[in-house]
Amino acid sequence: MSNIEFKSKNIGIETKLIHAGEPKPRIDGSVIMPIFQTAMFENTDSTEYHAVRYVRLNNFPNHIALNSKLAQLEGTEDALVCGSGMAAITSALLASLNAGDHLLIQESLYGGTHDFLTNDLVNLGIKFDFIDPDKPSSWEAKCKPNTKVIYVETISNPLLKIPDLKAIVAFAKANNLISMIDNTFASPINFRPFELGFGLSLHSCTKFLNGHSDIAAGACLGSKAQIEKINHKLSHFGGMLDPHAAFLLHRGMKTLALRVRYQNDSALQIAQFLEKHPSIAKVNYPGLESHPQHARAKALFAGFGGVISFELKGGLPAAKKFIDKVNLATHAVSLGGIETLITCPALTTHAGLSDEDKKRSGITDGLARLSIGIETTSDLIADFEQALQ
Ligand SMILES: *Cc1c(COP(=O)(O)O)cnc(C)c1O
Repeated sequence: MSNIEFKSKNIGIETKLIHAGEPKPRIDGSVIMPIFQTAMFENTDSTEYHAVRYVRLNNFPNHIALNSKLAQLEGTEDALVCGSGMAAITSALLASLNAGDHLLIQESLYGGTHDFLTNDLVNLGIKFDFIDPDKPSSWEAKCKPNTKVIYVETISNPLLKIPDLKAIVAFAKANNLISMIDNTFASPINFRPFELGFGLSLHSCTKFLNGHSDIAAGACLGSKAQIEKINHKLSHFGGMLDPHAAFLLHRGMKTLALRVRYQNDSALQIAQFLEKHPSIAKVNYPGLESHPQHARAKALFAGFGGVISFELKGGLPAAKKFIDKVNLATHAVSLGGIETLITCPALTTHAGLSDEDKKRSGITDGLARLSIGIETTSDLIADFEQALQ
């Protein structure tokens, strides 16, 4: 069995979502990739260890098809699905850094990543410095002989800032660093990091890639050599993707382009509505002209994504009231699914940050974050309107 690989650059991402990585020939004629719900396969033609197929080794037909599809979506050599976004992020970092190494990280990262970098890695003897991702001239002074990695997110959470991504790639190349980017918020539909020259792309597939809020999954994308190194770590940590979740991710990903384009469109309309509303102090959305990196987002991205954050004039009490009164948005963490969600980062996703880190990251108590689903846009706007009254 092999997996469909498109060699031509002219093949569209929608076609890749459906056909790239699919087994050829189809397994027993099955139009849809079946689940291999087993923990191991029989050894048939070899007794060597690399031929062993065991579920923790992440090397089942379901994994292989997904890896091939993901790599082709972002235009890189290889990919590795993992049991969660954090499994992907931690494995990629631990495969790239050793005790005594140093890395540069963007301020205001995803809460779990921030905590891992600033606590767990430090305890393992790996040090870091924060960089302002919008000030390339300040990076040189923080780079040391033992700096190995520069780590950023395409769109930061929850303030939706966009680093100077071109400068990050150039700086990494000039200083021989691995450039890592968490591309979860953009998804491969809105941004493909390898087109800009990034070294490693990471995803929480729990979000847009699966899109249905029913599994946890993650992925690392990069060169064959890097992915092999990460896979070696992942198989020790046990962060593989189980076959049933792999099946669901595979199914969810096929509609990625349709979902994300609708979410781009709907979120822009909702951000414009919120920005005009008298009860709202500030809206953060890269598609708005008021966003400080709007021009950069327009130049680099095919769309601005489904996540919006905003500050209500009445602070935390007003944010709590809004969440209580809204009917179509569920109060829950996470993002990128087909249903609209709302959360207060200071109380949930970023609750683990110290007051100092919150302040540095610009996360106020009255900040609310919306992940726009695929409901009718005008229904969402009408619901937000009544909740703001
Ligand atoms: C959710 C998220 C993660 C973590 O992913 P899990 O699948 O929850 O482990 C990492 N980065 C970003 C940007 C996320 O939104």
